[in-house]
Amino acid sequence: MEYRHSIENAYEYPAGRGMTAYLEGLRDGKLIGSECKSCGHRIIPPLGFCTNCISYDVRFVEAPDIGRVVTWTSEPDGNRWVLVCFDGFEGGVLHRFSGAQEPYIGMRVRPKFRERRIGSVLDLICFESV
Ligand SMILES: [Zn+2]
Repeated sequence: MEYRHSIENAYEYPAGRGMTAYLEGLRDGKLIGSECKSCGHRIIPPLGFCTNCISYDVRFVEAPDIGRVVTWTSEPDGNRWVLVCFDGFEGGVLHRFSGAQEPYIGMRVRPKFRERRIGSVLDLICFESV
């Protein structure tokens, strides 16, 4: 027996320092990460603290224009998703892939942004092959 039920729960939560920087970067057509001022550790998407030394003294820095696919998958409807990492940054950005060919591990890609951006994760349309 299967029982399904849903509960509506409207809520808002603050984006925090890191995600605010990320969303502002998307609005400006950039991918932003964080860099620790103490140890230099970089991560994308950005965080408000360093995962390496736990310092809260971080700055927000732009990621390179080009990243590389480290893994990908496709859905039955044809949507393809790629996890893209950037040189010098831990972490990565998971998003749609668009292109005639299938993505592959190591493929160099760049983000494609909407013309009108509002500071949303949807400002990033997809990654495309370079
Ligand atoms: Zn650090």
